[in-house]
Amino acid sequence: MYKIELFQTDEDLKNFAHSKMVKLKADCLNCFGLCCVALYFSPMDGFPIEKEAGQPCINLQSDFSCSIHKSLSKRGLKGCIAYDCFGSGQKVSQVSFEGKSWMECQESKEQMFKVFQNMRYLHELLWYLTQAITLKPAQSIYDQIKSLIEETEKITNMSPDILMNLEVGNHREIVNEVLLKTSELVRNEINLSQKPYYKSYRTYKLRADLVGADLRKNYLIGANLRGACLIAADLREVDLRGVDFIGADFRDADIRGADLSGSIFLTQVQINVAKGDLNTKLPPLLSYPIHWKQINNKKD
Ligand code: SF4
Repeated sequence: MYKIELFQTDEDLKNFAHSKMVKLKADCLNCFGLCCVALYFSPMDGFPIEKEAGQPCINLQSDFSCSIHKSLSKRGLKGCIAYDCFGSGQKVSQVSFEGKSWMECQESKEQMFKVFQNMRYLHELLWYLTQAITLKPAQSIYDQIKSLIEETEKITNMSPDILMNLEVGNHREIVNEVLLKTSELVRNEINLSQKPYYKSYRTYKLRADLVGADLRKNYLIGANLRGACLIAADLREVDLRGVDFIGADFRDADIRGADLSGSIFLTQVQINVAKGDLNTKLPPLLSYPIHWKQINNKKD
């Protein structure tokens, strides 16, 4: 039973989480192309050119759309495909700067780009916190999670002057403590539910180096893979329920047929850069990248 003052029913909780999540989905039509201007990027990261932060990408059009959007996958622009602003683009464009773009308001563009970078951190934290409040084993700390969601939202509504100079690190540490607790609660519950002889799983150190590792025979249910480097790791058909993947690097990790339906703290960016297929099971909040089919066709 949830604390009565938080959520009286499962439906209330679901509605609460849904109302938060919709605001954390990128809405490019309501954004001033901020990710294609505000950030530094280079071809090595899967972007079309090397450019400084604040300089618009050569493919960004005057209506803030991308002139090569339909062929990003064909051109191998993995950085463009994978990037997710967690809804911070539209928040900065429409709320912080009240619909005035950096093109119209040249004098505030530097400020807008700095606000965007901090807003993205805050929205990423909101993504994790909102995910945390949907995890039943974390019920005992729902009050802490909910108040952190509200506090973080309050910060995102501050003025651009405050947001541009915000030190996000302190708030991030407070959020991280609650996410760690959530992770423990979820992983303990799933480990307790497994048969005893299945529990001989390996423990991994923080930010474990698993580049190219073949993990197909490893028992990973309920493992802690926070910050793990899983670049090109082989996770085909592995049961990954209850695994904490916060901050893990999934570039080219092979997750075809893997069960990530109960994995925690995964983001769309991680899924976008991995190699999966329609047999991969994803958590309910994430979607199947359209480029997976093309990747699969090239392989085997
Ligand atoms: S190629 Fe398109 S999506 Fe990628 S950075 Fe440039 S404008 Fe943005």
